[in-house]
Amino acid sequence: MRLLIKNATIFEKNKPLQTDILIEDGVIAKIEPNINLKADKSKADKNKNTKGNNIIKTIDATGLTALPGMIDLHVHCREPGATHKEDFLTASHAAVAGGITTFFDMPNNSPPTSTLAALEEKRNLAKKSVVNYGFNFGLVKTSEAIATNDLKSDKKIQHKKSKKSKGKKASADAKTDKISKGKITYNLEEAKESQKYKCVKAVKVYLGQTTGNLMIDDLKVLEHLFLTTKMVMLHIEDDKLEEVLELFSNYCKKNTSSKTMLYICHVNSKKMVELIKKYKKQKHIEDRLFCEVTPHHLFLNNEDAKMLGRLAYVKPLILTKDDQKALWRALEDGTIDVIATDHAPHTLEEKNNPDITKVPAGMPGLETALPLLLNAVHEGQLTVNDITKLYSTNPAKIFGLKKKGRLKEGFDADIVLVQQKLKKRIINDNLLTKCKWNAFSNKELFGVPVYTLVNGNLAYEYDKFTDKKTLHDIQGREIE
Ligand SMILES: [Zn+2]
Repeated sequence: MRLLIKNATIFEKNKPLQTDILIEDGVIAKIEPNINLKADKSKADKNKNTKGNNIIKTIDATGLTALPGMIDLHVHCREPGATHKEDFLTASHAAVAGGITTFFDMPNNSPPTSTLAALEEKRNLAKKSVVNYGFNFGLVKTSEAIATNDLKSDKKIQHKKSKKSKGKKASADAKTDKISKGKITYNLEEAKESQKYKCVKAVKVYLGQTTGNLMIDDLKVLEHLFLTTKMVMLHIEDDKLEEVLELFSNYCKKNTSSKTMLYICHVNSKKMVELIKKYKKQKHIEDRLFCEVTPHHLFLNNEDAKMLGRLAYVKPLILTKDDQKALWRALEDGTIDVIATDHAPHTLEEKNNPDITKVPAGMPGLETALPLLLNAVHEGQLTVNDITKLYSTNPAKIFGLKKKGRLKEGFDADIVLVQQKLKKRIINDNLLTKCKWNAFSNKELFGVPVYTLVNGNLAYEYDKFTDKKTLHDIQGREIE
């Protein structure tokens, strides 16, 4: 199968360059101006090995910028357990419309992705995704002290809350985990096993506020995890961050042969980025400590959040202008490595629950992340190369994804073609996410994904004249 993209603009060292891109069997075969198909074809005809390589499609990309497909390391597809909010198919449709060609799903489902059986179930469900996909495994408590005195009362409350849902799971986990009474235990054995799967790149740990048995409050468990996992991905609030960074720093000093990495999700405050910056200066952890920022923390502050009300309720919270500015500075100075959406859809009904204590945290983001970033390029806050680096190249490098994250011969043909000068308004009804709302609705943004290709297959196209979005029935691949 061959596909030729004609006259696309690519950016090399921030300089625009017009070129053609030839795709063969899902891989970028050639990037050069004026690729002559006829001359190429006669050569191909002589070569028996390329028999059947018939040209099936040409895309005229005049006026469009080609970028490697975005790679989102932090997405909640909500399946299994909450498919009224989203599922792998609708999340992947939202992804291609947003120029994302690979995403990694988070484990806080019901049941959580914290056993190998749950992982297998999820691998099966994810097959309907039109984008490439992988998973982050969840660390959970498998048993907890019942009557020990050294537990704080809030832990007891937490225990009571999660007890109901834990009964079933505990019996499944009992096979692989020792459950000792009077002591908190975790699914460390299964977390270790999960690392043998090529599609699992990290173990996600929720330190701090979240629900049920995914909430981990004992930092000691991290030391065990560091020994057995490729990467620990942390949801952490800034009060515990320094302690964890110190722990990781000491671990790296002691275990010089270990290659374990630590990845801090969604930094939201000046304090967080300053701490991370400080620790990144330590030679022994500089290439093992990473952090991500979300578009909502970059493009919103607490004044915007006040206007948006419950829709802007996310964890960690959207903070002040001062914090927002610090995040932008951290992007510029390289403290922040990755942009990821933390796409966390809830229905509007759920977000508008009259009982404020029941409003769930999180917002959708897959369709608007790249347009927001392209709009920032339009406003001079970022360059196209910054977007490529932060939302494609770095995520691929950090997660060890081979042949992804760059427009390069021999790399997978995961490509998005965007029209930078086209302005488009975000309208709830037109969104492909199942929850059909967005915190940036009614905003007009410069920069629209027009074609998205996954493994060389056209997955999505947008017609600016009719405002029509076309989705193609293709299948993404599980990450290797
Ligand atoms: Zn998340």
